Amino acid sequence: MSKTILLGIDGATLDVLRPWAEQGKLPNLARVFKQGVHGTLRSTLPPYSAQAWVSMMTGRNPGKHGVLDFFEAAGGPGHHAFISSALIQGEAIWDILSRHGLSVGMVNVPLTYPPVPVNGYMVSGFMTPKGRQDYTYPSELRDEILRVTGQYNPDPWDLVDPAKDLETFEQWMDIAEQAAVFLHQKHPVDLYANVIQAIDQLQHSFWDLLNDENSRSTPRGQQVWPAVEACYARMDEAIGQRLAWLDDDTCLFLVSDHGFQTVNRWFHVNRWLAEHGYLKFATADRGVGQSLAARLGWTREELKMLVRRLDPLGLRRFLDRFARASIADRLDDALAQPIDWTQTVAYSGSRTSEGVYINLKDRDSQGTVEPGAQYEDLRTRLIEELLAVVDPATGKPAVCGAYRREEVHSGAYVSRMPDVLLDFDDKPYLVSESTSARDVFEPIAATDIQGRHHALGTFAAIGPHIRSGTVVEANILDVAPTLLYAMGLPICDDMDGRVLEEIFMPEYRQAHDIRLESTQRVEQRESVAATYSQEEEEAMLQRLRDLGYLS
Ligand SMILES: [Zn+2]
Repeated sequence: MSKTILLGIDGATLDVLRPWAEQGKLPNLARVFKQGVHGTLRSTLPPYSAQAWVSMMTGRNPGKHGVLDFFEAAGGPGHHAFISSALIQGEAIWDILSRHGLSVGMVNVPLTYPPVPVNGYMVSGFMTPKGRQDYTYPSELRDEILRVTGQYNPDPWDLVDPAKDLETFEQWMDIAEQAAVFLHQKHPVDLYANVIQAIDQLQHSFWDLLNDENSRSTPRGQQVWPAVEACYARMDEAIGQRLAWLDDDTCLFLVSDHGFQTVNRWFHVNRWLAEHGYLKFATADRGVGQSLAARLGWTREELKMLVRRLDPLGLRRFLDRFARASIADRLDDALAQPIDWTQTVAYSGSRTSEGVYINLKDRDSQGTVEPGAQYEDLRTRLIEELLAVVDPATGKPAVCGAYRREEVHSGAYVSRMPDVLLDFDDKPYLVSESTSARDVFEPIAATDIQGRHHALGTFAAIGPHIRSGTVVEANILDVAPTLLYAMGLPICDDMDGRVLEEIFMPEYRQAHDIRLESTQRVEQRESVAATYSQEEEEAMLQRLRDLGYLS
């Protein structure tokens, strides 16, 4: 039985990794690229970390595993919960391996809080609520980690303040790697997987610098570049450590959940819909009951509760900047800008779902569009017109792809997705659902985010069963079936990805047929509601007062 090591690097893109490897800055990665296989990995649409990582770990598209966003409708209409491992539908790779009697160690993989029982262990990662101590399975593992590291936080990453955070970034990378190395050595397993989260956070803040060598000499560049390069060097050392663990029956896979690219323009979708007659803003009644937020199921009280729950723990700590900004927009919309739903046929809901919803009868409480031909005709017209949207600043189309959701995804949860999904590929736009924007397109402030996810992430593999020098084009859905094949296990028959056969040595392929097994039914899991302390809630109330949302 072959063993496998998986190293995830959130947000790692070949646009940085390839040139830096060639320039000798990332020697261990360069060795992987040279002696193994590598190439692009296409992420989910949209390429956000929540749905992307879960797709990778299940081999199934979001329509099947149900993780569509950072939030999930839970407990009936109008109730939203932070996404958590409990909301993943069906088996993830740790469940499958455990079922087959193989052992797993999953360390800092996003969306693994709360950790679930496995044949092995689990330490949760990105999206672990701040301050929680129940981040390991089994629970005693936490004490072991603390004995070795002195301090530990499974999700320390926050927005980067260059003035004070860059040093702690490197320190937290060190602590995370110290724990990761300890766990691998102390508790050997058949699949050992861990994820480095820091690169994603750095790139959201500093992509404009990373993307421009000339920025090194600017004051901000002089402050940021050395620290960012040091973090990349830490990442490369971690790769080197895993190369040292390889033996004649262990392979290493490197993956990222998406790539990165420049972003400098807002595309206010609701403003565009209004200008094209699909959405009508109410002029007089500014009641919250008419707002977009209310339509999405958020009442004013729920919003306050949500933000109260989020922030001390919080918007800064759970989420990357996209989701944080999205909540801020929701608050804006809830408290400021109403929509006349009786005269609206389409609207944009959540930035991190990047799409357009139809105001559908039988589904939306004030639906205006008949299901069937009227719905389909509207989608056709919207897709045509969205593809023709031109940014006046460039004179060029802004939208690269617009799809009916079922063209992209399949499964029971497709019905919860936007009716039309948008794809901006390498265009520098960020979707906003704000209803208070004055123009369809607006520049993003220089002080705001500078990078956004791009669909093309990174895939690489090296080891005794892996070929040399092959360039691969992987899909994020291919990772789980490929890991199962590398470990000699059958592939679940409802997985959407394929085994990347072309990366394996001919001898391995001859000795190992691709086998299928029927998917195991897993009981629908219940949402685990988060509860927070009085102190945390008080801190949030104060923040809301500071923002002017409460008196
Ligand atoms: Zn990510």
